[in-house]
Amino acid sequence: MSSVINFDTEMIRKYDRQGPRYTSYPTAVQFNREVDNDIYIEELDKSNQSNKSLSLYFHIPFCNSLCFYCACAKIITKKPERSIPYLERVYKELHHQAELISPNRVVEQLHFGGGTPTFLSDEQFEEMFEHIRKNFTLAPIEDREFSIEIDPRAVRASTIPLLHSLGFNRISLGVQDFDPKVQKAVNRIQSVEQTFDVIDAARAVGYKSVSVDLIYGLPCQSVESFKRTLDLVMQKRPDRLSIYSYAHIPNKVRSQRTLNADDLPDASTKLAIFEMTVNYLQKAGYVYIGMDHFALPDDELTQAKQNGTLQRNFQGYSTHADSDLLGFGMTSIGQVNDCFIQNMATEEEYFKGIDHCGLAVNRGYRLNKDDCIRRDIIQALMCQNRVSIDDINEQYNINFFDYFADEVTELLPMVEDKLITLGIENIVVTQAGQLLLRNIAMVFDAYIEPINNQVIFSRTI
Ligand code: SF4
Repeated sequence: MSSVINFDTEMIRKYDRQGPRYTSYPTAVQFNREVDNDIYIEELDKSNQSNKSLSLYFHIPFCNSLCFYCACAKIITKKPERSIPYLERVYKELHHQAELISPNRVVEQLHFGGGTPTFLSDEQFEEMFEHIRKNFTLAPIEDREFSIEIDPRAVRASTIPLLHSLGFNRISLGVQDFDPKVQKAVNRIQSVEQTFDVIDAARAVGYKSVSVDLIYGLPCQSVESFKRTLDLVMQKRPDRLSIYSYAHIPNKVRSQRTLNADDLPDASTKLAIFEMTVNYLQKAGYVYIGMDHFALPDDELTQAKQNGTLQRNFQGYSTHADSDLLGFGMTSIGQVNDCFIQNMATEEEYFKGIDHCGLAVNRGYRLNKDDCIRRDIIQALMCQNRVSIDDINEQYNINFFDYFADEVTELLPMVEDKLITLGIENIVVTQAGQLLLRNIAMVFDAYIEPINNQVIFSRTI
């Protein structure tokens, strides 16, 4: 199958609806209070029998200023000292979780997200790594995927080489849009120079991959203005690009109420921006990985997509095989065996939990057999664009066509629209279905009904 996507506006319009991005299945909306510290301890204990590798996620919630569109869990403060008591708790949590994990298990993946991880000082990064090294066994350098989100507005010149020397080999830069009008509307003023300096510094010290995040659908954007942003970004030719669709959900995200809704591009402009972007990036030599992600042909993500080893997790697409994910910090999400675990949502509750017993689990979800079957199908659609019906039958001892009789009926219009082919052995996403992956996956989502009719997911575009 050709990897080039032909943009079919009518088809995208036809299928445009709210839906999850499937960084997990079930999604976090299903998490409940049945999962607590005790269940987490039980799951960690069980997981040690597998000797699976580990992935660590650290949530650093602090940001210097508020970007109005932002739906992340963050704390806005100009006071660097706010991070001191927070890190104390993260270290406590780190020691406690490490005690529950077999030392034979190695950390292959590590991610610092936020918030703004570069809110921390260089000394704090060194200190954190000291704690990580002391408590966990890190994989050999060539097997590591250590990544961090960088805000170019909040990073010192010394930090990029320091992070590389600590073992980070991938960075992703928040850019969103270079247009001054858009930046003003969303309260994120970031110069091209600041951004380019970080990319140059990362390349100079040898980071394996530099990724840039953009958002389309923001106030004051137009096809022309977003193309100018892409023109600028292309001057540095990042290895990867994530182009997210802005989800305007002011009923859920308070700061979005500050945005002037009249400035938002209408649905057809937003679709036109997306179309221009897909065509632009493919012409520039990027490969569409799936769900907003593009990468250069020699990037590991592209190779993983081509050889069928692509994975999807809370950080988006990844090349790493299945590992258990341990989360640290407020709101962080972990996944151990077939169980999701999420920490307390506020700093206060997180501190209270950690001070009490070293863990701060708030909620989570234990997958049952049906969830696992659906998760595997959705993961296969999102990553390999193909589901082996034989494999599912064999692994779960079911008859796919009996078990999913309703879903198969629901898939038939997609077969007619040539988004998928459906045979006895396989479901295969066609080239036309690539941009509608989430719609195809949603057929297998048992929880897709809107909750209280509220908008909780972003739309396809
Ligand atoms: S977009 Fe990033 S920097 Fe801006 S408020 Fe959100 S987490 Fe902070």
